[in-house]
Amino acid sequence: MAHQDNLNPFLNAQKQVKEACDRLGLEADVYEILKQPLKVLEVAIPVKMDDGSVKVFTGYRAQHNDAVGPTKGGIRFHPNVSRDEVMALSIWMTFKCCVTGIPYGGGKGGVIVDPRTLSQGELERLSRGYIDATYKLLGEQVDVPAPDVNTNGQIMAWMVDQYNKLVGRSALGVITGKPVEFGGSKGRTAATGFGVAVTAREAAKRLGINFNGATIALQGIGNVGSHTGYNMEKLGGKVVAVCEWNGTVYKEDGFDMHALVDYMRKNKTIVGFPGSKEITKSEFFALPVDILVPAALENEITAEVAETIQAKFVCEAANGPTTPDGDEVLNRRGILLTPDILTNAGGVTVSYFEWVQNLYGYYWTEKEVEEKEERAMVDAFNAIYKIKEEYNVPMRTAAYMHSVKKVAAAMKVRGWY
Ligand code: NAD
Repeated sequence: MAHQDNLNPFLNAQKQVKEACDRLGLEADVYEILKQPLKVLEVAIPVKMDDGSVKVFTGYRAQHNDAVGPTKGGIRFHPNVSRDEVMALSIWMTFKCCVTGIPYGGGKGGVIVDPRTLSQGELERLSRGYIDATYKLLGEQVDVPAPDVNTNGQIMAWMVDQYNKLVGRSALGVITGKPVEFGGSKGRTAATGFGVAVTAREAAKRLGINFNGATIALQGIGNVGSHTGYNMEKLGGKVVAVCEWNGTVYKEDGFDMHALVDYMRKNKTIVGFPGSKEITKSEFFALPVDILVPAALENEITAEVAETIQAKFVCEAANGPTTPDGDEVLNRRGILLTPDILTNAGGVTVSYFEWVQNLYGYYWTEKEVEEKEERAMVDAFNAIYKIKEEYNVPMRTAAYMHSVKKVAAAMKVRGWY
């Protein structure tokens, strides 16, 4: 595989699905259906800017497979969004939903934009414009978006408001990850990070690592990374290193994660946090910690980086942070990796809980949400770990085998092949 191909998340996603189909000995037709989204929409979104000019942004929505239920997946605002990236993320969503057994297929959306360059008004008009351009393909029983990188509860609220205006009725369940004041679920903001911490706890148990005092290196302290940090701290873990896009810091006795996140919000960087020292990104990946958590973006753990990793295990909080050749190196070196579609499945699981609450119009307490999420994550971890042991395959392959089998079975009974 050429180097550039190796960084194409769409080709990587296809490779992962193909491997699971082959291991399961499924008919070739299954991979033929699963290797691309069933539908991809590309839209141009004109936005009136504050200076009176009009700027046209490119957006996408991909619906990978709806054999199990409506498609589901976040909307990302980022300059590197591309058709291939959105398609890859939609494929990962199909199998992530099956990991915890929620009745959804996979979808994903994105807009090519650096939201930091927009005013609050421009951001709102872009968010509403995205819905104007895509709403005919969305719906509570059709395709249900949610937040992803650089989008949040406020953006989801504008989007649902716009959708409701266009369809002329209240359809709260059309998008999840909403603020609690507007149909959101308690526990949703923290859900992905909480699930990452539960997954890490279960992996640590299997490896005989005591979580109390376990050392952690964390890349990215946005929504997922920060809540991963808070919850790992609660379990007794010690975050000793944090890597952000504009600097990396180390603190031997562990960071107070709330203080570090507050510091970054105020200073726009983590560099200079009291008591910490700055290290390089390569030093960060090579730290002899117990757990390495990539919680930022794709393609961070390449083969080259994987050769340097000294962590006892890698917990993929982000989507697609390890390239296939990075995976091969970790497997050869015997370093366990809990894959993204398992590790960060808590987010979509609680999104599903939000949707259920919206459809019922009846809301749960935070404790109920956390308990149900924890049970789903532990069950998924155990089921996938069992496949890993039985077939002697890496956990990523085991997770895909677990999910591909379920989607293939649904497609079979529906008569798709
Ligand atoms: P976010 O925008 O809130 O946070 C991302 C963080 O990563 C930011 O702090 C950003 O500064 C940092 N970052 C960006 N580039 C970096 C780099 N090169 N090196 C180090 N840090 C960098 O996004 P998020 O919602 O936390 O999502 C993070 C990852 O988790 C993504 O891969 C996303 O698809 C995945 N994910 C998110 C959710 C969710 O519920 N938000 C659910 C499942 C998976």
